[in-house]
Amino acid sequence: MSVKEIETKKFVKNKFSEYYREHSSSIQPPTLIEKREFGFLMFKGRIMVRHKSFKNVDDLSKNLKTLVPSDAYYSSAYYERPEEKMEEKSWLGADLIFDIDADHIPTPCAKIHDTWVCNNCNIAGKGVLPEKCPACGEPRFNEKTWPCEVCLESAKIETLKLMDMLKQDFGFSSKETNLYFSGHRGYHLHVESEEVQSLDSMARKEIVDYIIGIGLETKLHGLVEERGARKARVLTGPNLEDPGWSGRIARGTYEFLLTATPSDLEEIRLKRKVIDTLTQHKETNLEKWKEKGPWGIIKGVDTASWRKIAQHGAEMQSAKIDTVVTTDTHRLIRLNNTLHGKTGLKKIEVPVTGFESFDPFKSAIAFKEGTLKIIVQDAPKFRLGDQTYGPYKNRQVELPTAAALLLLCKGRAKVKEEK
Ligand SMILES: [Zn+2]
Ligand SMILES: [Zn+2]
Repeated sequence: MSVKEIETKKFVKNKFSEYYREHSSSIQPPTLIEKREFGFLMFKGRIMVRHKSFKNVDDLSKNLKTLVPSDAYYSSAYYERPEEKMEEKSWLGADLIFDIDADHIPTPCAKIHDTWVCNNCNIAGKGVLPEKCPACGEPRFNEKTWPCEVCLESAKIETLKLMDMLKQDFGFSSKETNLYFSGHRGYHLHVESEEVQSLDSMARKEIVDYIIGIGLETKLHGLVEERGARKARVLTGPNLEDPGWSGRIARGTYEFLLTATPSDLEEIRLKRKVIDTLTQHKETNLEKWKEKGPWGIIKGVDTASWRKIAQHGAEMQSAKIDTVVTTDTHRLIRLNNTLHGKTGLKKIEVPVTGFESFDPFKSAIAFKEGTLKIIVQDAPKFRLGDQTYGPYKNRQVELPTAAALLLLCKGRAKVKEEK
């Protein structure tokens, strides 16, 4: 690490310290705080301090003030003895946690603002991180991502789908579900209910499979070919209003047909003739849908093609969650109203009712006063609050504290010497 980088880190830590001194009263403790494990990622050496426990929120706030971590977490689990080693904690249960992160959603802009370099062979790439390096097969990378507006908007869409499923299909009330902006590139949804606490990892995997629609078969949801009058073949399928995945398949199919371009249809490997037919009869087809469902009404679209269309419709309805987070019953999750070490923004609760108009780049700003002089190596154009900044390349700029801190935390800028 260069001198400049160490200085920058110190500077960011001082800013975080300032925040925790001034806002310790706004720290929101998790329910049953005394039964949770806490963990803190430290600025120095990126060390994780774990197995901490606090009797009350005052204890916790005091600790944040003295420790000044880069990131603060608590366990989704409840333990008899949270401060003990893992085997001796005595697990009592855990909340059900969902994480929707732009990292898991392939957006077109990821190719512009996200880059990675393989730690082993130094090969570089753009867009979503591969599981293994395409050149050497090693799974370790140095990645550079960006909390971009388009990416967060797609995370919002995935979150809305998840929320709908949890409410309509699982029957969780809005009282039991809490929604948060992570402070970086996504949203967290916590279900706190006695009914979910005792679920083990396998049971949580079942819920995950439902949410991401794994192994869905349209046939089992009523998309079947039958022999009608005079042995004519008719296709029947689920209706738009059907409950559960049946209705989701129907609605997904409708949505897909409504928006699909010929090249979208080509992508799911439909035959040329089928694509032409669907494109030509788009309007009438969609009209008929509203009445009774369209399955099989178009001459020239065979059952196999319908299956492909419905399968894609189902995929569009599934919610792209980070599956590992939900199945891990010992997960540490970010503490509400604490700072995110990669952005200097806060993790904050989002009102479920106003979610669609929620603006993370306004609501999550922690530092609202002053400006800072920094040297930016490389930053894309971005917005914070009502202002737009950048793009910058090797430039010295003076920015409002929150914008400057975002660049410093993302490793895109360094502090300017004050001498
Ligand atoms: Zn490699
Ligand atoms: Zn993006």
